[in-house]
Amino acid sequence: MKKTYLFTPGPTQIPPDVVLAEASPMIHHRTSEFSEIFSSVSEDLKYIFQTKEGEVFTFASSGTGGMEACVVNALSQGAKAVVVRGGKFGERWAQICETFGVNVVPVDVENGKAVDPDVLDDTIKKEKDVKAVFVTLSETSTGVVHDIEGIAKVVKGHNLLLVVDAISGIGVHPLMMDDWGIDIAVTGSQKGCMLPPGLAFVCVAQSAWKSIEKSDLPKYYWSFKKMQKALSSKTTAYTPAITLIMAAGKALSMIREEGIENVWSRHARLAHATREGIKALGLELFAGDASSNVLTSVIAPEGINIDSAIKKLRDEAGVTITGGQDELKGKIFRIGHMGYVNEFDIVLAISAVEKCLHENGYKIELGKGVSKVQEILVG
Ligand SMILES: *Cc1c(COP(=O)(O)O)cnc(C)c1O
Repeated sequence: MKKTYLFTPGPTQIPPDVVLAEASPMIHHRTSEFSEIFSSVSEDLKYIFQTKEGEVFTFASSGTGGMEACVVNALSQGAKAVVVRGGKFGERWAQICETFGVNVVPVDVENGKAVDPDVLDDTIKKEKDVKAVFVTLSETSTGVVHDIEGIAKVVKGHNLLLVVDAISGIGVHPLMMDDWGIDIAVTGSQKGCMLPPGLAFVCVAQSAWKSIEKSDLPKYYWSFKKMQKALSSKTTAYTPAITLIMAAGKALSMIREEGIENVWSRHARLAHATREGIKALGLELFAGDASSNVLTSVIAPEGINIDSAIKKLRDEAGVTITGGQDELKGKIFRIGHMGYVNEFDIVLAISAVEKCLHENGYKIELGKGVSKVQEILVG
């Protein structure tokens, strides 16, 4: 008998009621029944992005599709954009921009560190004609959270467009669209939203429309203008992922019920317990003080092949955590704790890490991490 547990930084665990909602019989999308569901989902999405004046567009795609939509709608050919790169997803912004002929001015941050808003400020000051700044809320490849509020102050000071990849960060860390003056932010369904993969949600503030109106980069499916027109009629421009949107209705209402502030503080508490559990095992956090509440990234201990240890844990014990990607492969491992996660998930995840390290010859005192987690969560 194998039972499975998912502690990956996307996809994430799904509440049973959300699974059931996705299993609903199919309905047609040009009906008042669908329109009602869709407009309530769109309102709930505004709540999780913390916007009253902005709009949220729902695309059938993974998060990256939503990122591409941001670039092709916000910018024009030959535009210059400052991109914060400090991991795989910051790099993805740069790659998408380059694909469409946008001039990228990179701000490179060491893996495991957060960008210093003053450094960003200096870069913008040195450049002429910058149109937009692209950043990441939670850099899932390194486990770092960036200071979007501080970054927004800098970007607004220069009157530039701020575009945020909040794909793993939404519903975990605060992101205040209206209060911080973010122009465009994007998330995907399979991270903090407690949904299966397949939807990208893009939040567009009123302040972004001047650039969107002018944008001449090629787009058809991804057009914000078409999505806005459809949204005003409580629908999408093309066939929506109907049952995923039904599932979103359930998942987002669970977030509303808990209250977004409580959702943020639950994640902060669980992430803190995870970090302390890891430290109690004598391991070191890869992202140190910049650690995100989305996931915990840990420096792999010397002398064990972490990727094969993780594979064994998944194949034999049914527990999935992840290793590092690209240049971090073999150097770190990552424990996801976003979305449908409570305190016993953390106890389980840390006990699985203990088992994994122990069975692969790394000397630890079994239970030491778990007991630290318990101490924090009980106390
Ligand atoms: C997961 C993730 C992405 C990519 O999303 P896909 O759904 O795989 O396209 C982009 N950025 C961040 C920060 C992510 O966590």
